[in-house]
Amino acid sequence: MAIKRLVLSFPPHMIDQPITYQLVKKYDLMVNILRARITPNEEGRLVMEISGKKKNLDEGLAFLDDLGVRVEPLAHDIRWYEDRCIECTACTSICPTGALSVKRPEMRVTFKHEKCIACELCLPACPYKALEIVS
Ligand code: SF4
Ligand code: SF4
Repeated sequence: MAIKRLVLSFPPHMIDQPITYQLVKKYDLMVNILRARITPNEEGRLVMEISGKKKNLDEGLAFLDDLGVRVEPLAHDIRWYEDRCIECTACTSICPTGALSVKRPEMRVTFKHEKCIACELCLPACPYKALEIVS
């Protein structure tokens, strides 16, 4: 089983195309969309985790390439500096995946790296710079 976290960028005329459906149906891949947005110049961007047999994954990526979809690895990562965190919990309500969460009733903040999709939403929420991007 191979897993990749990727950023897909595709031009306006392809926004409506069922690309993820094709990946699932034609290439037997599991697709988990982590983030989707359309940029101001109407380019579509999807952050997704794709998993499946390596051969299928390679073929699926070749299919995207043939379509003209730009595929890049998710380039950065988020690090939580526990020693800087004062457990104010401001970030935990913002985090869409539960990577940052608060354990009750102790009110202890934890970071589960494997759940983080590097969406960066938590960065401006933290007044103590306890969350940072690492390249
Ligand atoms: S970047 Fe921050 S808000 Fe986004 S998933 Fe990771 S921990 Fe949560
Ligand atoms: S916002 Fe910063 S200081 Fe507050 S709980 Fe989150 S990481 Fe810790």
